[in-house]
Amino acid sequence: MTTHFGCILLGAPGSGKGTQAKVLSDDLRIPHVSTGDILRSEVQSESQLGIRVKEIMSSGQLVSDALICEIVAKRFYKPDLLKGYILDGFPRTVAQADALETILIERGLPQPKVILLNVGNSILIERLTGRLTCSQCGRAFHKTLNPPKAVGKCDACDGELVQRKDDSLETVKKRLEVYEDETKPLIDFYSQKGHLSSLSGDQEMFKITTGIRKVLGA
Ligand code: AMP
Repeated sequence: MTTHFGCILLGAPGSGKGTQAKVLSDDLRIPHVSTGDILRSEVQSESQLGIRVKEIMSSGQLVSDALICEIVAKRFYKPDLLKGYILDGFPRTVAQADALETILIERGLPQPKVILLNVGNSILIERLTGRLTCSQCGRAFHKTLNPPKAVGKCDACDGELVQRKDDSLETVKKRLEVYEDETKPLIDFYSQKGHLSSLSGDQEMFKITTGIRKVLGA
């Protein structure tokens, strides 16, 4: 039997989900599914959907459960997810977690492992407000904690590094509030099911990757 590496990375904005998901996706050769990246590319291409969600995203609020679940359900129809996937930024509410269970049952996929990355709020704020994101591949750097080799350029693809609109201090505070209210209840939701493992997200990057791989049995 081939192993299925289905995994949800859970954690506040800035906890390192995206960074870890990219490394694991390369290592394990399974897709990284980031709902934030999907929405950002819709905004960039000025699609109808992008125009609808642009304001919501830049204010730090969540887009509707119905909309995001429809996007994820469509993504799960693609056969590349049959071997595994790393979900980053989804689910973010209990309603989304319920919808994901239905999607997985419909596709005949096993329950994913859920890994919580724990990081304190002051570190999250420092990370997010200093974050630089590659406009091409989405890799994250930091002005001081993890600067790129060449100023303003992504180490991996040479793309332009930008500050995300929602990484301003005011919006970061809003996003952390939304995380507390909407997403934190998922910690209980998944621990009651016995699916949750917690890791400190405030340690060297490779140590976090090793911890996640251990949980996945990879
Ligand atoms: P992220 O890149 O995961 O921080 O997401 C950026 C923004 O996209 C969020 O602040 C939300 O506005 C929106 N978003 C991403 N994923 C979701 C989701 N699962 N549910 C609702 N909104 C989302």
